Amino acid sequence: MPIDLSPDPVAARLAERTAEFVRDIVLPLEEEHRGVVRSEDVRTHLQDAAKQAGVFAPHVAREYGGHGLDMRGRSVVFEAAGYSLLGPLALNIAAPDEGNMHLLEAIATEQQKERYLRPLASGAIRSCFAMTEPAPGAGSDPDALATRADRVDGGWRINGRKWFITGADGAGFAICMARTSGEPGDRGGATMFLVDQDNPGMRTVRHIETLDESLYGGHIELLFDDCVVPDEAVLGEVDEGFRYAQIRLGPARMTHCMRWLGIAQRAQDIAVARASDRRLFGARLGDLGMTQQMIADNEIDIAASRALIRQASWELDQGGRAGQATAIAKTFCAEAIWRVVDRALQICGSLGVSGDLPLGRFLREVRPFRIYDGPSETHRWAIARRVLRHHEKTAGS
Ligand SMILES: Cc1cc2nc3c(=O)[nH]c(=O)nc-3n(C[C@H](O)[C@H](O)[C@H](O)COP(=O)(O)OP(=O)(O)OC[C@H]3O[C@@H](n4cnc5c(N)ncnc54)[C@H](O)[C@@H]3O)c2cc1C
Repeated sequence: MPIDLSPDPVAARLAERTAEFVRDIVLPLEEEHRGVVRSEDVRTHLQDAAKQAGVFAPHVAREYGGHGLDMRGRSVVFEAAGYSLLGPLALNIAAPDEGNMHLLEAIATEQQKERYLRPLASGAIRSCFAMTEPAPGAGSDPDALATRADRVDGGWRINGRKWFITGADGAGFAICMARTSGEPGDRGGATMFLVDQDNPGMRTVRHIETLDESLYGGHIELLFDDCVVPDEAVLGEVDEGFRYAQIRLGPARMTHCMRWLGIAQRAQDIAVARASDRRLFGARLGDLGMTQQMIADNEIDIAASRALIRQASWELDQGGRAGQATAIAKTFCAEAIWRVVDRALQICGSLGVSGDLPLGRFLREVRPFRIYDGPSETHRWAIARRVLRHHEKTAGS
């Protein structure tokens, strides 16, 4: 099959409009708030501005008020939005809401879509995705899932502890993964539940202090303590949660890469501007070979990341799971984006680590990406196992 990695012209035009919107409206606000917004007023203001500019919710189906872009289309628009730390929040494509919208569109009932997807897509509410648990529970190894949901009359009772749940503070609902059969360590047996914010059985334990700060709603430890939900709260089928998690995770990995690639490009632009202006040792900084090497290596990392994202997006658009392509792209991008921001900061010298430039903030924001959505080591392990399996299959035939 011929591979066409280019986004369609509608997506390309939307990416241009998004870049203008980010430059004119979002970047001044990012500077004012130093990249970290914690106020609903500012979130609403940003999202209203994105609606006015016609760039809001590019990923959501038209019937829910979006532009209905496929993954290739998203790749250009999300990168343009990601040029600012606040761009994804403005367009309503920030994690974890964007991944949750994708999941709800794919598997929710019509009733669930009206109740959860429609207000989420419009920005009226936010959401979170509660999977990870403190040790010995689910982390890199999802089979370790320890949170349980037991059958009660007309519904389920959830008990367990989750942490690092991004956006949970103020979220209208959580999608909680809980074990409905088997024991921790068993494959399968998980179910996804929609839990409303006001459910007295779901409680915030604490805000976890982390290196990064820009993802809206923080990273939260949540306690599910005899949290009773009705049967209608089951998202998809009982015991199929891990399969649905794959529907969410493949695209969500890529959209994280797209957004952070925007920050890598911004870091490179800042460094290149500095290298052109700054003079030392009788030359422009940009005329010195080692600086040129860092600028070139940044271009290579950005171009390679973009190409891997497009390739994996194309595979997802063909309806495949793209497990290998998304694992390769995620691992490469998470490490390449870190390298780009780190080199950009180096080129800028002491200015780079100061608060006068946003590069130090970017470095803190991109570092955790090598851990969430699967640590690099987990992905390398999975990539190698697929290669070995393929070898064993073809060697045997
Ligand atoms: C900023 C941030 C936001 C997050 N947001 C969310 C969220 O919204 N919802 C949610 O459910 N979770 C979230 N997480 C959790 C994230 O998904 C987990 O951190 C991740 O899955 C890794 O799990 P863990 O932290 O328990 O690490 P562990 O499972 O304890 O792994 C520790 C280390 O083991 C190594 N390792 C892993 N696999 C292998 C392997 N196969 N071979 C060799 N070494 C390996 C890696 O170096 C890894 O970093 C977030 C995490 C962070 C940091």
